Amino acid sequence: MRIDLHVHSTASDGTKTPAEVVDLAVAAGLDVIALTDHDSAAGWDEAAARAREVGLTMVPGMEISTKLDGAGVHLLAYLPDPSYEPLAHELSRIIEGREGRLGAILEQLRTAGIDVTDAEVRRQVGSAPAIGRPHIADVLVARGYVADRTEAFTRWLSAGQPGFVGRYAPATATMVELVNASGGAAVIAHPWGRGSRRVLDEQALSELAAAGLAGLEVDHRDHRPSDTAALRSIAARLGLVVTGSSDFHGAGKVDHELGCHLTAPEQLDRLLEIAASHARGRDRATTQVVRPRPQPCGR
Ligand code: AMP
Ligand code: ZN
Ligand code: FE
Ligand code: FE
Repeated sequence: MRIDLHVHSTASDGTKTPAEVVDLAVAAGLDVIALTDHDSAAGWDEAAARAREVGLTMVPGMEISTKLDGAGVHLLAYLPDPSYEPLAHELSRIIEGREGRLGAILEQLRTAGIDVTDAEVRRQVGSAPAIGRPHIADVLVARGYVADRTEAFTRWLSAGQPGFVGRYAPATATMVELVNASGGAAVIAHPWGRGSRRVLDEQALSELAAAGLAGLEVDHRDHRPSDTAALRSIAARLGLVVTGSSDFHGAGKVDHELGCHLTAPEQLDRLLEIAASHARGRDRATTQVVRPRPQPCGR
């Protein structure tokens, strides 16, 4: 059983459509993926339809932007209900924040001598509701200002660089509670990757566990082997589920091929059981795992 629980599509800043992601997952020998676009469920229906056709199991998810002590923390939400009003409200605030900062980023880049238009970025974004810096990065690449997304971030778009502008994100613990109240389960994405390491020591993780956090994404390309070992021990002490995932973005992120890290089946079972326990007692339909239809006998 090969399970990859963190995958992006063109519904956010990945470069493959949700249907293409499903096809690629089958080609990569995966049995289960979670589609986890940034702050949006926009890709779920397309991925679910294709997953049913090709016999892949698809866990609807999202990677939600949150903040803890001034640092960005990405929260993977599995089986959340995006129509649960308090969650929907926060997600639309995040999406509006992404929208609102675009003009400011382009203005700052212009001041620094880089002339990229709003229309060029919009074309790159396509129909994705979540405008991300990777879309701007791709325009910088296309215009020859930089060689790739990585250089776009290190020279222009990362915190401290000339094109950086902050944006709205709710507190991590608040979002854990909203995801749970909507019937989902929350896992911290790449806890010791990039910016979030400094705010996520064992004490902070234990407070989030007390707030209802379900798990940690331990196996991830942004973690060194010593990080994964330490995070695995912390997860064990705090009783948290351990996941491993690719964080696939298509051509948008190198070394993050589908299935490059996997989640153990029993860890997925725990995660789904936690989501089910949050969903029990809710009076509305909950988000479900999309499972392949059983084939009739003899086929
Ligand atoms: P945003 O969602 O606009 O805050 O942009 C953050 C996203 O950009 C992350 O979720 C990653 O997918 C991507 N990203 C962040 N840093 C880098 C980097 N150094 N190189 C390539 N992609 C990055
Ligand atoms: Zn991304
Ligand atoms: Fe992330
Ligand atoms: Fe991601």
